[in-house]
Amino acid sequence: MLGNDLLIVVGALVGSSGAILSYIMCKAMNRSFISVILGGFGQTSSSSSAADTDQSVYESSADDVCEELRNADSVIIVPGYGMAVAQAQNGVSEMTKILRDRGVNVRFGIHPVAGRLPGHMNVLLAEAHVPYDIVLEMDEINDDFPSTDVVLVIGANDTVNPAAAEDPGSPIAGMPVLEVWKARQVVVLKRGMATGYSGVENPLFFKDNTRMLFGDAKESIDKLVGGLRG
Ligand code: NDP
Repeated sequence: MLGNDLLIVVGALVGSSGAILSYIMCKAMNRSFISVILGGFGQTSSSSSAADTDQSVYESSADDVCEELRNADSVIIVPGYGMAVAQAQNGVSEMTKILRDRGVNVRFGIHPVAGRLPGHMNVLLAEAHVPYDIVLEMDEINDDFPSTDVVLVIGANDTVNPAAAEDPGSPIAGMPVLEVWKARQVVVLKRGMATGYSGVENPLFFKDNTRMLFGDAKESIDKLVGGLRG
């Protein structure tokens, strides 16, 4: 290989692209390159791990969430890896259209490392024909949560974890996150209480203004679309 100039150039390009991507991801997670390489993310116990407490969650139903959405003026949708797994993006796009046709201000908040690939959420939403101008990056939308009626967190977990901002002992302390908990009402769509990629518990699920809509994200979204149409 070292005797072939083309292979050396291609190898150098691939290697440097990987290094740049790793740097961008480490920056988005506020972690040093060494700590990422050495691992251990989420293995240490957080000083206020939700699993150590007797907190309970407020469970909601599709009907109740539909009612919340009907009464909302502004909605922010925060998608994550679970939306991709469930392939819920087309239903999400349909729901967005129904709400916008009713005059609701619907926007999307995209975390730089949401999903499992850079740009994962943007690609899925674009494929589902969600208009580009309502899909905003974290820095563009983070200040708008306090003035938002309803946030729908669809299969996102680590990227909306308040422990990153509120618990200095958390393994993800300092990682920039979407501050969804500042909205009037948060609805989290996921199947159960499993942690995300980092393995860190998420206190968002136990907050007074959070409602859990359990189930596969596609099935839940289909129910919401049906309810909003009816
Ligand atoms: P997370 O990985 O934090 O959480 C995904 C959540 O989706 C899980 O908690 C899971 O909960 C839920 N889920 C899975 N399947 C379904 C389903 N069918 N229906 C509904 N919910 C489902 O996702 P985020 O996008 O918030 O964060 C991405 C994570 O991946 C970050 O930690 C990031 O650092 C990491 N990462 C990102 C990369 C990138 O380039 N974007 C690359 C490598 C890692 P439950 O099982 O209870 O349903």
